[in-house]
Amino acid sequence: MIKPALPTNEAERLAALQRYRILDTPREQAFDDLVTIARAICGTSMGAVSLIDGERQWFKSLQGMDGEQTPREEAFCAHAILRPADLTVVEDALQDARFRGNPSVTDDPFIRFYAGAPLLSSDGYALGTLCVFDTSPGQLADTQKQALQALSRQVSRLLEMRRLRRLIDHHQSEHDWYEARLTEYYVQLEQQNLELSEQTRTDPLTALPNRRALSAALAEAIARDAGVPPAVAIVDIDHFKQINDIHGHTEGDRVLVELAAVLRAQFAGRGMAARYGGEEFVILMPDTPLAQAELQCQYLRQAVAHLPLGLPVTISIGLAAQRAGESAQETLRRADAALYQAKAQGRDLVVVAG
Ligand code: GH3
Ligand code: MG
Ligand code: MG
Repeated sequence: MIKPALPTNEAERLAALQRYRILDTPREQAFDDLVTIARAICGTSMGAVSLIDGERQWFKSLQGMDGEQTPREEAFCAHAILRPADLTVVEDALQDARFRGNPSVTDDPFIRFYAGAPLLSSDGYALGTLCVFDTSPGQLADTQKQALQALSRQVSRLLEMRRLRRLIDHHQSEHDWYEARLTEYYVQLEQQNLELSEQTRTDPLTALPNRRALSAALAEAIARDAGVPPAVAIVDIDHFKQINDIHGHTEGDRVLVELAAVLRAQFAGRGMAARYGGEEFVILMPDTPLAQAELQCQYLRQAVAHLPLGLPVTISIGLAAQRAGESAQETLRRADAALYQAKAQGRDLVVVAG
């Protein structure tokens, strides 16, 4: 027996084989089918798709005998890949110096006949063979040789397709990953935009809508013109400066927050209460007749006067209903004038603008 030489391009050949990621993968029907056809055409009892790794030959498909791999030294196919362009035919292994004494000749599976057509990578390296073999000596007709070589090209194409499939899958999953990240960033961006625009519309102390949000809502209510004109109330805490002066600024803040909670609770769903500035709030009551709005304001005034805050707090309110053609600014100015009157008349009062 003569051990097979290493191809001169062995390192590159092994690198090419690695690119196919085929070694130690499960058996596949497509490879088995081509081996079955090769055996049928050549009339042999055994056949294989053999790949020559560094130290072993590994079978992607094997028929007529059992096993997964053999040492490279004993592999017929390790000889066959030394001539990548040619079919290697061994008519009788016992008559061939290379194989006489080879354990697979002298022992199970007792190979006498062998024909192997190299499997070429897309860049021309011989990765292994499609081979057929038998326990009795034999010969192949030219048509059988041509068919075996044609089938080996089919096996090579199958390997190539498998490799491309893997690349495409890989790119696809990378693409999916980037797309998922992109969607994630987009959602975050939208969320942040939402929070930012929320911040520009919300008073940080009381969490009520701020003056900007109120102005927008009032303009919208006027533009909508729902038949009943919107009513606007300006609420101002009486002698709030004294509360700060006597109880401290923190206590003043607490009063603002408590009052905001009452406003929010009372007008949720039927209008909007906003912090307009300092200790002033504005209530927008769309679709509310003036008389009803006044009742609401009176109710609010009394509710605040009875709040269990631990200190006496009252509010004064100036109320105005938007007049036809009147600007939001003008309505607010009239409500403010009414508030001024409430203050002048002794506070803890609701005054309706004339
Ligand atoms: P009036 O009954 O005439 O409304 O008297 P007032 O003391 O409530 O009115 P004034 O305008 O003299 O004082 C308002 C005070 O509100 C002055 C200011 O320091 C205080 N203030 C404004 N914003 C805040 C705030 O966010 N927190 C606290 N604690 N005080 C504030
Ligand atoms: Mg004020
Ligand atoms: Mg005040």
